[in-house]
Amino acid sequence: MGDGTARPTLLYKSDPIRGAVWDRVFREEAPDIALQVWSPDAPPSDAAYLVAWIPPEDLERSVPKLEVLFGLGAGVDHLKLDRLPPRVQLVRMVDPDLTRSMVEYVLYAVLALHRDIPAYLADQREGRWAPRPVRRAPDRTVGVMGLGVLGRAAAEALRGLGFAVRGWSASEKSIPGVTCFAGTTGLPDFLQGCEILVCLLPLTDATRGLLNAAVFSALPAGAGLVNVGRGGHVVEADLLAALESGQVSAAMLDVLATEPPAPDHPLLRHPRVMPTPHVASATHPESAARQVIRAIRRHQDRLPLENVVDRRQTY
Ligand code: NDP
Repeated sequence: MGDGTARPTLLYKSDPIRGAVWDRVFREEAPDIALQVWSPDAPPSDAAYLVAWIPPEDLERSVPKLEVLFGLGAGVDHLKLDRLPPRVQLVRMVDPDLTRSMVEYVLYAVLALHRDIPAYLADQREGRWAPRPVRRAPDRTVGVMGLGVLGRAAAEALRGLGFAVRGWSASEKSIPGVTCFAGTTGLPDFLQGCEILVCLLPLTDATRGLLNAAVFSALPAGAGLVNVGRGGHVVEADLLAALESGQVSAAMLDVLATEPPAPDHPLLRHPRVMPTPHVASATHPESAARQVIRAIRRHQDRLPLENVVDRRQTY
């Protein structure tokens, strides 16, 4: 921690265009914090803070005094947590703009499924004009897997549109207007009746491959899927089979197991899949820089940091 006299330093390792925004925000709003830009050829940095999507491989050598690593994303599944020195706290990105973008995307995807848009797009390709019955939102049950920062905000927004919303998380939750289930024992009851399933889980050993044939078959026939978590949550062969059988009627996929996927990836080209290239939400450089400034100030004031990743749970 800074001794009150030295200027705290944040080392920035990410793309230079966003870096220019970070530089401006730090100069305008935190001239007391030095912003250093990482370069592979630079000598070791004496920064106590590092912000990066992927930190340098040899952290102990290149940033030997590191105390806090700020991840640039909400998820940390791409990081090798066992390579982080134990003294280093890992803080993930929690940013109102990131949450707002995710809520927008989930609403778009759920509404598309609720209003049969994938089927109407197929009709359009065939030159068909075929109205389907319009269902009331309160008669449609939407289930949100993961009730953290993003899942909870999405569940509340869906509730605001009048859907019957249920949610599932690791620990028990109580969210007004949302029926909550928890843990593996709560999963079957949660899935039963979910006509639209939204995945907003972190990718961990416990959640990898969770969206598989067993889960799809526990949903009502013809259910819709929205995956905005990670591609690794879905067993893609099982999803393809469920789409073929009609057990899953359509899927809105923002993430795939391999990104970018091969141009002939069957889910990318499936007529009842509406894919997007991992754009549901992104960290906005201005608000992210402000989050980090706030956190550095807290750390300098010896206050506990928020949004610290639990190394045992890995999220
Ligand atoms: P949080 O850590 O705030 O929330 C995670 C939620 O998942 C918590 O409710 C947690 O339960 C629950 N959970 C974790 N493990 C399990 C499990 N084994 N069983 C049941 N529930 C579990 O994360 P965020 O909401 O901020 O982000 C969620 C994910 O969204 C990120 O990890 C990332 O993968 C994805 N994401 C995708 C983006 C995109 O553009 N597609 C952009 C940003 C994020 P509990 O509350 O009990 O701990």
